[in-house]
Amino acid sequence: MVAHRRATWDTCAVHQHEWPGEFTYCPHCATPLVEARVAGSPRKKCPQCGFVHFRNPGVGAAVVVWDSDGRLLLVKRGPGATKAGLWSIPAGYVDYGEDVREAAARELLEETGLEADIGPVVWVASNFHDPAKLTVGIWFDGTVIGGTLQAGDDAAEARFFSPDALPPMAFETDLAYLQTLGIEP
Ligand SMILES: [Zn+2]
Repeated sequence: MVAHRRATWDTCAVHQHEWPGEFTYCPHCATPLVEARVAGSPRKKCPQCGFVHFRNPGVGAAVVVWDSDGRLLLVKRGPGATKAGLWSIPAGYVDYGEDVREAAARELLEETGLEADIGPVVWVASNFHDPAKLTVGIWFDGTVIGGTLQAGDDAAEARFFSPDALPPMAFETDLAYLQTLGIEP
C-alpha cells in the first residue's frame, strides 16, 4: 500500500500543493486566508470572519450489480470524467443533504438506466486517484428492480462483463474490491 501522508504547511504554496485546490480566499467574505493551528492541525483561517477551512474528502457511492449469468455491471467513463475511456463500477458523488443510499440508487439510474434496491455495504475505501478531489467510496450491493440498460449522464457505455473478461479498469479501489472476491483482471 502507498502511504498517504497529510499535507503540511511546509509543503503548501498556494498553487503548488501536495493536495491541490486549497482555498486562498475566504469563501464567505473573500478575505485572504492565513495559516492557523486549529484542533491540533494546521488549517487555513479567515482573520476577518473566523471561518476555518476544514478540508474533508467527498463521499462516493457505488453500486455492485450482478446479472443472472454472474456478470458484473460496469460503465465506460465518458469524455470529461476522471479516467475517461476506462471502466468502473457505477458510482457518483453524494450531494450535500442527500442520503447515501439514495445517492447510490440515483447514480446507478443516471449512468445505467437501471433501478435497484440498494443492499448492504460490501466495500469501503479511500480514493486518492485525484489529489484535488479526494473521496471516501462506499460500495453497495444492488438488486435490479426495473429500468432498461442504457448508458447516460457521464457514462459512455454500460454493459455486463464476465469476471474473467473484464475491460481496462479505471480505479484501483474497484480492483481491490474485486480481489476480495477472487477476481483478478
Ligand atoms: Zn471570512
